[in-house]
Amino acid sequence: MTGHARGSHVGSAYTGENTAREYAVAQYETAVKGVTNLFVTNAFVMLGVRPSPCTPPAAAESGPPGRALTYEGVVDTVVPLTHAGLSICPGPLTKASFPMSSTTHHPIAVIGAGLGGLTLARVLHLRGVEVAVFELEASARARVQGGMLDLHEETGQTALRVCELHDQFLAKVHRGGQAMRILDRHAQVLLDEADDGSGGRPEIDRGDLRDLLLGSLPEDTVHWGAKVTSARPLGDGRHEVTLADGTAFSTDLLIGADGAWSRVRPLVSGATPAYTGVSFVEFDLLDAEGRHPEAAHLLGGGMSFALGDNKGFLGHRETDGSLHLYTAVRVAEDWLSTIDFTDPGLAKAAVLEQFADWAPELRQLITDADGPLVPRKIHALPIGHRWPRTPGVTLLGDAAHLMSPFAGEGANLAMIDGADLGRCLAEHLGDTEAALASYEALLFPRGEDTALQSAQGQEIIFNECAPRPLLDMFASFEAGTARGR
Ligand SMILES: Cc1cc2nc3c(=O)[nH]c(=O)nc-3n(C[C@H](O)[C@H](O)[C@H](O)COP(=O)(O)OP(=O)(O)OC[C@H]3O[C@@H](n4cnc5c(N)ncnc54)[C@H](O)[C@@H]3O)c2cc1C
Repeated sequence: MTGHARGSHVGSAYTGENTAREYAVAQYETAVKGVTNLFVTNAFVMLGVRPSPCTPPAAAESGPPGRALTYEGVVDTVVPLTHAGLSICPGPLTKASFPMSSTTHHPIAVIGAGLGGLTLARVLHLRGVEVAVFELEASARARVQGGMLDLHEETGQTALRVCELHDQFLAKVHRGGQAMRILDRHAQVLLDEADDGSGGRPEIDRGDLRDLLLGSLPEDTVHWGAKVTSARPLGDGRHEVTLADGTAFSTDLLIGADGAWSRVRPLVSGATPAYTGVSFVEFDLLDAEGRHPEAAHLLGGGMSFALGDNKGFLGHRETDGSLHLYTAVRVAEDWLSTIDFTDPGLAKAAVLEQFADWAPELRQLITDADGPLVPRKIHALPIGHRWPRTPGVTLLGDAAHLMSPFAGEGANLAMIDGADLGRCLAEHLGDTEAALASYEALLFPRGEDTALQSAQGQEIIFNECAPRPLLDMFASFEAGTARGR
C-alpha cells in the first residue's frame, strides 16, 4: 500500500479531493493498464464474462451488447469492484467506463472514536495525513463518558505530548484527585494519602479528555452513528467495511480501535475476550458533600478501595462532586445475569447480599445509590495476544489487548498505541506495511507486560487477605522511592 498524505495517493496520479469518481479513475490509470492487455488478448473469456447491469456507453459501443466483465471476486487483487462500486467493461477503457459510485473510499479508516482512535486521528491530522473515524454512537454527547482516569507519564501523558495537547490537559486535571484511601471491610481506614501534587499521575474526567481530543480534530473527522457490522479483505491490503445502515466503504488501511468486542479483530486473530472471574456493579452518589456527607467523609476526595475476602468497593470522587463507585466481586460468570437491573431496588438487594457481613457504612453506599446500577463483567484477551502481520489492517487499545482494569493502564495504553501508530504511519509514508510492522513491534511487548501487571493486580486486590497485599505493595513502592532519594 501507499502513503496517506493529504491530497496524494502514491502510485497514481491522484491529487485531487477524495471523491469516489476520482479515486476510481486513479485506480484505472494505475492498475488497469495490465488488465487492458488481458482485454486485447481476449482474456476476459478466461476470466469469465457474465451479464452485468453495467453497460456504460464505451462498452455498449465496442463490446458485446449487454455483456460486461466484472472484477468482483475474479481479479480483485488488481482492481476490486467493490472498491468503488465499479464494473469494468470490455472494449476501450476510458474514464467514462467508470460510472459514479455509491461506495466511498477512505485511505485510512479508524473504527471507534474512543481515546485510542481519537489519539491516532489527532496525530495523523497534525502530520497532514487524511483520516476518517467511524463511531457507532450517534454523537459526541450520546453517552456520559463517566469515570476518572489517571494519566501516566510514559503512556497517556506521552501520547498527549505527541498530540500537542499536554498543556490543555494540565489545565483540566482534577486537583486533589490523586489522594488515596484504603479501607478494610470494617470501614477502618488503613492508608490515607493526601494529594500533594507530587503523585505524577494527574486525574482527568474521561469526558473532558475525550472532548479535548475531539476538539482538536476537524469537525468532519468523526462519522457519528456509523456502526461497523463487518469487514472483509479485498486483496492487496484493502478492505471493505459494512455499516449497520447497509452502506459500505473501502479503505487502504483499516484500524480497529473499536474496543473489547472489536469487529475488526477477527480479520487478524481468532482470540476472543474471556471472563476474568470478577464482576462489577457501577453506580453513583451524586453531590456527595451535600447529599451523602457520611460517604464523602468515609471515602475522601480521591481514589478509594474498601477490600476484603475477594470483593470490595472501588471508588473515586469526580470533578462534579459525585462519588463514582463500583462494587467488585469474584463470582461466577452468570451472577450478573441473575439480577434484574431494570429495578434498582431489586438490584441493590442482590448486590447487598454479597456484602451481608460488611460494615453498615459501606453497605449504605449501595443502599443510597442514585440512579440505575450498571452491571459490568470484566473480560480480558489472552496475555500476550498478538497476530501475524496482516496486510492493510491493525488494532489498537482494547481491541488489541483488552485487560482487566487493575493496573489502571487500559486507557493510557490505548492512547500511546494511537500516538505510536500515528507516528509510524507518518514516518513511513508510502510503505504502510513497514509502518505497521514498526508499530506492532512496540505494541505487542508493551501490551503483554501490562496485561501481566493487570492480571497480577487482580490477584493483589481480590484475595482472602485483602487489603493486606495491596497495602504491602504500596509500602514497597514507598520504600523503593525512599531508597531512590
Ligand atoms: C470499570 C473500568 C474501569 C477502568 N478504569 C481505568 C482507569 O482508571 N485507567 C485506565 O487507563 N483504564 C481504565 N479502564 C480501561 C479503559 O476504559 C479502556 O482500556 C479504554 O477505554 C480503551 O480505549 P479504546 O479506545 O481502546 O476503546 P474504547 O474506549 O472502548 O473505545 C472504543 C470505541 O469504539 C466504538 N465502537 C465499538 N464497536 C464499534 C463498532 N462496531 N462500530 C463503530 N464504533 C464502535 C465504541 O462506541 C467506543 O467509542 C477501565 C475499564 C473499566 C471497564
